[in-house]
Amino acid sequence: MIIEYHRPNTIEETISLLSREDPCTVVLGGGLYLNEKVEASIAVVDIQNLGLDTIEKKGNKHFLGAAVKLQQLINQDKLPQALIKSVKHQETYNRRQVATLAGTAITADGRSPIPAVLLALDAELEMIGNNNKTELIHLGDFFPLREDKLESKLVTKIIIPSNTKTAYHYAARSPADRPIIAVAVSQWPSGRTRVVLAGYGDQPVMVLDGPDKGGAETAARDAYSQAGDQWASAEYRADTAVVLVRRSLNQIAENN
Ligand SMILES: Cc1cc2nc3c(=O)[nH]c(=O)nc-3n(C[C@H](O)[C@H](O)[C@H](O)COP(=O)(O)OP(=O)(O)OC[C@H]3O[C@@H](n4cnc5c(N)ncnc54)[C@H](O)[C@@H]3O)c2cc1C
Repeated sequence: MIIEYHRPNTIEETISLLSREDPCTVVLGGGLYLNEKVEASIAVVDIQNLGLDTIEKKGNKHFLGAAVKLQQLINQDKLPQALIKSVKHQETYNRRQVATLAGTAITADGRSPIPAVLLALDAELEMIGNNNKTELIHLGDFFPLREDKLESKLVTKIIIPSNTKTAYHYAARSPADRPIIAVAVSQWPSGRTRVVLAGYGDQPVMVLDGPDKGGAETAARDAYSQAGDQWASAEYRADTAVVLVRRSLNQIAENN
């Protein structure tokens, strides 16, 4: 339950509110998760006045503001089309108007399409803590420790490369359902290839990140060889992962 609401105009004020121990104070993005899932009494700090809703390209990187709404991403033709595909897959039109990019990345579970593509892009979170220093953390390092990493911190940006070829493919019980198996692949001009699986477990998993794509299918099969649950058998997931990795790599080879 939300017991206090704050809407500061500066990052300093935001950090100072987040640093309070009592009441427990957290960032409010779109509030979808906080309103629907959090039962504890919390104070929230709405970040809509902080100017964190911009999308910029500098050099080989896109800088996506933490408070960018998912719908804002849809018409950005310079962003990876795989990211836009994952946005359309993950959230309906109405929810895309509300959900923020950072809130969506932070609350990822194993079946979340957008975080899977962000992880394939080796996205970095830019964060500010109570020492007012900016730090960067790769999403892959953030997921396993997210509660610790987020304590009293504000995510200000999500940074992704602009020079990759990226693909996202999935299988689900219906086109709009959450994936039971999803594959996101990015390839850099150097040949570096990163393969991520989703559709199972607590978070998307990176199964390959190397100088070339060799071994991607085997790595995907091995990673999901025990990934059975009520939605799909491990055998189905492992077999389908191989097919989707191949499809993603073919799409990338054909230039997306
Ligand atoms: C009922 C329900 C159904 C869902 N269905 C799906 C689904 O089908 N597929 C799927 O993949 N996902 C699903 N989700 C997850 C959903 O994508 C996220 O809940 C939503 O996108 C969160 O975005 P938000 O901006 O509303 O986050 P908020 O609710 O505002 O915040 C979420 C969390 O992130 C923290 N946070 C937000 N912004 C920042 C920031 N800038 N800095 C630091 N911390 C921050 C908040 O403190 C909070 O802990 C579902 C969630 C719910 C509640």
